[in-house]
Amino acid sequence: MSTDNTPKPVVLASATPGMHLSPVLISGVRAFVECPDWCEGHEGDSPAFLPDLSHYSQQVALRGPREGAEWLLLADLRADAFGPDTAPRVVVDAGDDIVEMHPAQALKWADQVTAFADRIRSIARTATEGQA
Ligand SMILES: [Zn+2]
Repeated sequence: MSTDNTPKPVVLASATPGMHLSPVLISGVRAFVECPDWCEGHEGDSPAFLPDLSHYSQQVALRGPREGAEWLLLADLRADAFGPDTAPRVVVDAGDDIVEMHPAQALKWADQVTAFADRIRSIARTATEGQA
């Protein structure tokens, strides 16, 4: 009989290629979950049940053009860790509007964002040429 009362981690999944194990507290019990490489881990996560756990990537932010401006858009990759749909989705947070997109939708929208940035460059170049 062991006298060690230290809680032992519960291993829920084994490491597979493209995945790693991250600790998480589930209803106060430390466990390890298998995470995709893009997941930032679950430090501070304490879901009540495993189905409440989601993987999150690092966020990318677009700040407003004013010096010291807050972010205009945030984006990250998310996926439910368990459940019927664990496919990753791109989440864009525009403050009042949060949109979840499948990767193909996100790529299409990113093309529109690139076209918008190209248009801003064109406008800026026109302004620069107008000053010459
Ligand atoms: Zn994860």
